Amino acid sequence: MIIGAIELGGSKIVCAIGNEKGHISDRIHIPTETPDRTMPLIIKYFMNKNIEALGVGCFGPIDADKDSKTYGYITSTPKIAWRNYNIVKTLRDALKVPIGFDTDVNAAALGETTSGALTGCKIGIYITIGTGIGVGVCIGGKPMYGLMHPEAGHIILRRKKNDNYRGICPYHRDCFEGLASGPAIEDRWGKKPYELHNDYEVWQLEAEYIAQAIVNYILCYSPNRIVLGGGVMHQDQMFPIIRFNVKEYLNGYINMKEILDDIDTYIVPPALGDDSGIKGAVMLGVNAKAAD
Ligand code: ZN
Repeated sequence: MIIGAIELGGSKIVCAIGNEKGHISDRIHIPTETPDRTMPLIIKYFMNKNIEALGVGCFGPIDADKDSKTYGYITSTPKIAWRNYNIVKTLRDALKVPIGFDTDVNAAALGETTSGALTGCKIGIYITIGTGIGVGVCIGGKPMYGLMHPEAGHIILRRKKNDNYRGICPYHRDCFEGLASGPAIEDRWGKKPYELHNDYEVWQLEAEYIAQAIVNYILCYSPNRIVLGGGVMHQDQMFPIIRFNVKEYLNGYINMKEILDDIDTYIVPPALGDDSGIKGAVMLGVNAKAAD
């Protein structure tokens, strides 16, 4: 089976060719600009590659409800040029194959659930911390949907004392994404996250907010395991601080061995590295082909 896959991120896009076993045989990277400039490049890549289906993991919020009038749209994104853009229609009209469509973070959660760190989890959570913050929740191997997909990157956190940074989220200012995304780190400290690698204070604060969010996800979703990915999590010195803070905040309330004794295998980096999203997008394509 030849499956096309797109991971549409806030700053870059990955287009790839894969198969039902999750093997990726080819890929390219394209910067995320405007639909006018970006979509022709995506379509050109997949033309004449004989793909049988296409999986799209897309930054959100999106409308992935097939019964909705605006199915296939990117909706209230802060990226103005992509707001209310029908990406599924554009791709389907050009490539004429079944399309699987979900958020980028749901795709990553699906990738890790299919062949990574969330394999076998009844409920698995993938958190990406990068240009934005997103949370994919897989229940029984499938991304969770209710009214829409969860937007748990925008939860409200308890501010650390003396933190007067106003926050960068255009909708809520100091939600989790507003306080702790890559752009928030850069805006708060005046340098790119990787330039701050050795600055203890930066990562202590970042790990604090990430831990608060994880505590909320543990309490609300009761996940069997949590994967922390995205560009900011390349600062893996944060893992021990996050795990420590999560235990401190829970304070023994969730009396489970996985958290009390085995937190090193409970909050983990992605087993698929930076490929969780694109491999999950391949699976979205495989599922779309099966449902066609
Ligand atoms: Zn927000």
